[in-house]
Amino acid sequence: MKIQDLKEKVLRGGSITPTEALGLAAMPDKEALYEAAHEITLRLADRRADFCSIINARSGRCPEDCKWCAQSAHHHTGAEIYDLVDKDECLRQARLHEAQGIGRFSLVISGRRPSRQLLERLCDTARYLRQHTSIRLCASLGLVDEEGMRSLADAGITRYHCNLETAPSYFPTLCTTHTQEDKINTLQAARRAGLEVCSGGIIGMGESVEQRIELAFRLRELDIASVPLNVLAPIPGTPLAHQPLLSDEDLLTTVALFRFILPRAALRFAGGRKRFSKDVQRRAMYIGINAAITGDLLTTTGSTSSEDHRLAQEAGYEPDDTLTDTLHLWHPYTSTSHPLPVYKVASARGATLTLSTGQRLVDGMSSWWCAVHGYNRPELNQAAQAQLEQMSHVMFGGLTHDPAIELARLLLPLVPPRLQKIFYADSGSVSVEVAMKMAVQYWYAKSLSHPGLTHLAKKQNFVTIRSGYHGDTWNAMSVCDPVTGMHSLFGPALPKRYFAPQPRSRFDGAWDEHDIDELRALITTHADTLAALILEPIVQGAGGMWFYHPQYLVEAARHCREHGLLLIFDEIATGFGRTGRLFAWEHAGVEPDIMTIGKALTGGYMTMAAVLATNEVADMLSAHTPGVFMHGPTFMGNPLACAVACASIRLLTSPEYDWQGRVARIERQLKEELEPARQLPEVNDVRVLGTIGVIELKQPVDMARMQRRFVEEGIWVRPFGRLAYVMPPYVIQPEELSKLTRGLIKVVTEQ
Ligand SMILES: *Cc1c(COP(=O)(O)O)cnc(C)c1O
Repeated sequence: MKIQDLKEKVLRGGSITPTEALGLAAMPDKEALYEAAHEITLRLADRRADFCSIINARSGRCPEDCKWCAQSAHHHTGAEIYDLVDKDECLRQARLHEAQGIGRFSLVISGRRPSRQLLERLCDTARYLRQHTSIRLCASLGLVDEEGMRSLADAGITRYHCNLETAPSYFPTLCTTHTQEDKINTLQAARRAGLEVCSGGIIGMGESVEQRIELAFRLRELDIASVPLNVLAPIPGTPLAHQPLLSDEDLLTTVALFRFILPRAALRFAGGRKRFSKDVQRRAMYIGINAAITGDLLTTTGSTSSEDHRLAQEAGYEPDDTLTDTLHLWHPYTSTSHPLPVYKVASARGATLTLSTGQRLVDGMSSWWCAVHGYNRPELNQAAQAQLEQMSHVMFGGLTHDPAIELARLLLPLVPPRLQKIFYADSGSVSVEVAMKMAVQYWYAKSLSHPGLTHLAKKQNFVTIRSGYHGDTWNAMSVCDPVTGMHSLFGPALPKRYFAPQPRSRFDGAWDEHDIDELRALITTHADTLAALILEPIVQGAGGMWFYHPQYLVEAARHCREHGLLLIFDEIATGFGRTGRLFAWEHAGVEPDIMTIGKALTGGYMTMAAVLATNEVADMLSAHTPGVFMHGPTFMGNPLACAVACASIRLLTSPEYDWQGRVARIERQLKEELEPARQLPEVNDVRVLGTIGVIELKQPVDMARMQRRFVEEGIWVRPFGRLAYVMPPYVIQPEELSKLTRGLIKVVTEQ
């Protein structure tokens, strides 16, 4: 048996056997074992040490006879005896721990099982803590049934702790008042109530190496993700008072074995470790300990958190200064109780993001279509700085300024010639709201324009195509794909729109004339209530990264004109060269009545969007009651954003920048380098348009895992659903782009 083979097996997702584990334990070359375990830790376990803390909320007088325990009433240990700690004291400690960068706080009480009254008081404490802190709450209360677990979950506890303590074969020797099965039932009750579980044991209680391995495998079978490892600190007065102390080598070997058997678990240093030298503790962390209980531990003295943070860093873990983020900040589409890991960016330049750890990532996302010129672009920086010296903001009601005027001059030659009026908005979603309001107000105004046209006031609804994405605000949401969007969740409160199927004719394929049939039928049937058709021309972005045939737009526009619907193009994602044309409508040569732009408008520097409309639309709604367009955000036409947008457009359109050449080169390279992915068994489709490269997989991705793998490969890519895709900044260099495509294909292959 070769240690390298076993390590490789684990790294590939396999499991070693108990016999193999025993073989590892017997290896004379301990250093080789430690190094192999270290490699597994590095590759599979969490890179950031995970710290938690506990409060011994009630101590002593336990009826159980566990031989190791100071709190058993069967032994005479002089352990403190006190009743439930006051909830303000709990809060004080919880706050203290959170301030020290500790993410979890566990309420621990002695005893076999808490009474209903005690459980209720603990829930009360938990609720009180949840009201005043965001540190995550755990509980360790002995044997609790499912109903009890539900009350804990309702009170805000998210994880339950109950140690198996030792190997199944050894447990009855150490405790006779309850069984390990009772403990497992407790863990399962916790899981059924929706709680995470935490379970480990104590080593050095006279068990054999086989039994330590047995414990690790039992934990593996139970799929335990957080495993506290205690080392017995023999306590005078307990039956184990004279147990010989665990040697340094025994500790380190056990850690290595646990890492081999539980490669992804948080192996948590718990009680009894202080007896070991700093050096041994650091080595244990290097080998496999990637979590710790810190602060004061039960009845033995714990270690302070700053010491532990330092030890973790010395052992090679990344400093985690994102706890405030984890506990208090919402990220896009994430849970606050189970957020995906976030990576902290310290700076960004060109196509490179530099993380606070110093790691550099090639950016494949342009920060969601925005940063077309990459980051920290001198021309844009300079524009922002110069504008700051003038004014960063003034209201747009009754006032105007050069940046707003200049931006209009720059935009008008780039957009469809019919679009003559510009409304500055603060974000893409808001611009979609504005566009939709404009369409409704247009028909309302028109209904007033002639006594025979009053029926036009009914034209207030919208038709769109499936798999679209138009933003997260109310009306924008109503025209997002009804299945992948949020329609069922927001229910009847959301306006009901008409949805035609997603166009199936590929951008680069043949046009199927039936593709438009259902849209045509919807328009024909509902024309008297439809204000507009809204869609993303050519490229559907966040709704599916799909490229469809330009003829669809030609036909759609014709039906809109024939049946009296306005046509709204949402070019928020596709604008400013992304698809190989300055705007995507150019692929079809079809001009809309209203168009939204955003994202790359400021080169990704700040939030700004705009709605462009024809004079026909603007004149109509200005000519009839109320005679003004009913919208006006506070930050409309923000000078700072306008100034940067001007600089971004000047840069983009300058001959030296040669955006078309850049985009064409990126397109060619993406096509060439992503093509091989088409042959992979995991892959459904590969498509490239402009600087957008998409690999569509057969199965949905595990976002957290894939994200981490991309970061390990030194690239920043954010997959969703079955899609892994890139849309890099136009300034990306060929070798950076190759790194991106190589990493993308490599990680996709591991799916
Ligand atoms: C991103 C996006 C939006 C929404 O823009 P926000 O700035 O996120 O509000 C709307 N439509 C399309 C096509 C988009 O890609």
